Amino acid sequence: MSYGGFVALDSVDISVAPGRVTALIGPNGAGKSTLFHCLCGTLRPRTGLIAYDGRDITRIPAHARTRLGIARTFQQLAVFPSLTVAENVRIGAEQGRVRDPAAVEPVLRLLGLEGPVRDTPAAGLSTGTLRRVELARALAGGPTTLLLDEPAAGLDTAEVAALARVLRALAADGMALLIVEHDLDLVGGLADTVYAMAAGRIVASGPAAQVLAGAGP
Ligand code: ADP
Ligand code: MG
Repeated sequence: MSYGGFVALDSVDISVAPGRVTALIGPNGAGKSTLFHCLCGTLRPRTGLIAYDGRDITRIPAHARTRLGIARTFQQLAVFPSLTVAENVRIGAEQGRVRDPAAVEPVLRLLGLEGPVRDTPAAGLSTGTLRRVELARALAGGPTTLLLDEPAAGLDTAEVAALARVLRALAADGMALLIVEHDLDLVGGLADTVYAMAAGRIVASGPAAQVLAGAGP
């Protein structure tokens, strides 16, 4: 994957398995978000292959990948500020794999958004709440695969712990999770497999404990 003549991803090979949390770590500029965009379909690599459930999806646009079951959250939050929490989540239910409005309520409950906050416009809510709204929006479509770009950014310790519990439960239910994350404590407590990237390449991969042992500051 290149931006102009600059090669941002070179020979990157990763796989994400159902029921597992896979993490992608590495310094700023390593290419993590670029890889994420290639998986979601918001960028198309010039060469290489993206496969989902054995099917080549390299040329399938982002919205069609969402329908197949690949959901994502954004590093820069992307909720609709004038819509309420529940309305934002409903949009996720309408665009996903399952497209069932009944998916909204259980997802609001899973993320602790079923109280009065559900009818509050997203504008003005805290970062922690907005990250939960965004995760709820992604989950409301019934994805099989969830891609999270820095889900813990801007969260306090209690919010990170709550997030980790939810993500662990999703993986235990069989979902495939890929998280791009700087918080190595969260990665260590959550991920089964870790890929470390630098300068557009995978420089280490394997069980989380093994890769993190070599990823010190
Ligand atoms: P990370 O998410 O690991 O911080 P990125 O994937 O955002 O890294 O960026 C990888 C490299 O590609 C960086 O050198 C960055 O400057 C460059 N890059 C990212 N987006 C663009 C773009 N739209 N145009 C040109 N270069 C880009
Ligand atoms: Mg990034």
